[in-house]
Amino acid sequence: MDIMTVKILDAKNYMNLFARRDVCFTHGSGNKLYDTAGKEYTDFFGGIAVNCLGYNYPPLTDAIAAQAKKLIHISNVFYSVPQAELAEALLTGTIFDRAVFVNSGAEAVETALKLVRKYFYAKGKTKYKVVSAIGSFHGRTLAALTATGQEKFHKPYAPLPQGFVHVPFNDFAALKAAVKADDEIGAVLLECVQGESGVRPADYDYLVNAYALCKSKGLLFIADEVQTGMGRTGKMFGFEHFGVQPDIITLAKSLGAGFPIGACLARGEAAEAFEIGDHGSTFGGGPLACAAALVVVNELKNTKLLEEVEEAGEYMQERLFKLRKYKFVKDVRGLGLLQAVELSDKLSNTSVQDKMLAKGFVINAAGNNTLRFAPPYRITKAEIDAMVGALDQIFASTNI
Ligand SMILES: *Cc1c(COP(=O)(O)O)cnc(C)c1O
Repeated sequence: MDIMTVKILDAKNYMNLFARRDVCFTHGSGNKLYDTAGKEYTDFFGGIAVNCLGYNYPPLTDAIAAQAKKLIHISNVFYSVPQAELAEALLTGTIFDRAVFVNSGAEAVETALKLVRKYFYAKGKTKYKVVSAIGSFHGRTLAALTATGQEKFHKPYAPLPQGFVHVPFNDFAALKAAVKADDEIGAVLLECVQGESGVRPADYDYLVNAYALCKSKGLLFIADEVQTGMGRTGKMFGFEHFGVQPDIITLAKSLGAGFPIGACLARGEAAEAFEIGDHGSTFGGGPLACAAALVVVNELKNTKLLEEVEEAGEYMQERLFKLRKYKFVKDVRGLGLLQAVELSDKLSNTSVQDKMLAKGFVINAAGNNTLRFAPPYRITKAEIDAMVGALDQIFASTNI
């Protein structure tokens, strides 16, 4: 099928949700993608920080194919071997005691929010409220979008669920004041790097203080690791850069390397708060998804992948730093293989994204006029050089 046919079918059939799309990819291999016309692209987008092992990676495709031939779905009414194996592999060596698997990031966040409510409900305490940060992104189900600290996601969906408080990001005084003002606050929910709103890392002191505040007040600290988890920042979880120990984390994006799966992990008392029947999902933690995620966990634990992410991330940031010679480049920042270039208002990120696509590089226009880079973990130095070189050419030919 050619792209014109795809466009006509999409315009006729699919709900009108997406901005203009120009490319239809048909397959990929390693860090490369191919479109309907056979054109090759190098991927610095990873399907929104998801495709951590690249495309057509035999250990992943073989594991999925083998599991598909055995059992795709069985429900949680019965045990499955992949679910038992994944939970064991994922938790071993971490600070977390228990896991629950779901199907997406938003669902992982919903699970965490329900866990907070159940935890305090069981103690007979009215502490259902959750504080999150302005500029955050936590997903698009009603509760997750309410936790998301961005007005544009809220407006059409009122009335929103109750119990959400927003404070400015990286402003500890504001967080402390909000917690002090409201006894019904039970948890603080933060990203250690705000991904969607332009790859904004938390300040070290901010996260440390937020965590200490939670501990001193008996509040739960939730790290939304949907984007930063599973090695994206060069450590298994992003919070490890900050010396904090969340009670609860959420995972999704890279967890299945493209196969949909989310998870909520918890430690200590929070890990025991759910009881039989409190939560569940027909598909959550199914054998096929767990078999895929097990490949990711094993790669991260049994190979040098985390070191490779750290090294490639440092290299990419170093190369991107060189673009600060352009005065419309306001900032270059990120952790590991989650990096961004923030542009001044004079140059729109979507125009740069389109020009990069024409040159055969998939990059992403994220929030606050940033370009986001979240490539597969085994992106090479040569590929990084080529991508930054193309960006440099585009910037050089901009008449600003
Ligand atoms: C993408 C994202 C989500 C939502 O994940 P979905 O799988 O799209 O529901 C939640 N939190 C963070 C930090 C994310 O980056």
